[in-house]
Amino acid sequence: MSTALAAPCRTPRCPNAGGPRGLCRQHGRAYECSRGTAAQRGYGAAWRQLRVPILRRDPVCKVEPGCSEPSVEVDHIQPKALGGTDDPSNLRGTCVYHNRARRPQTA
Ligand SMILES: [Zn+2]
Ligand SMILES: [Zn+2]
Repeated sequence: MSTALAAPCRTPRCPNAGGPRGLCRQHGRAYECSRGTAAQRGYGAAWRQLRVPILRRDPVCKVEPGCSEPSVEVDHIQPKALGGTDDPSNLRGTCVYHNRARRPQTA
């Protein structure tokens, strides 16, 4: 009989034993991953706030002339990797199709 067992994971309905912060390995890691990924990609809270006025300005996709799909994402006209900025003049609304089409190596 051991008293060294940790308390259960704090995540509701999680059957695993909790770790140092009261979360099991799975949930502790998922939390760290989602934070790290958002920061790495530069799409944190600031980016989410930046998107709102762009989607309001461009309610319809601006990537392809004549596309009438609703904007669901915000696209950099000049990619950040090529020196593009987060200025509204470098941002445009994009529908789900054209946003996906512009991503490299997804075909
Ligand atoms: Zn858990
Ligand atoms: Zn489109």
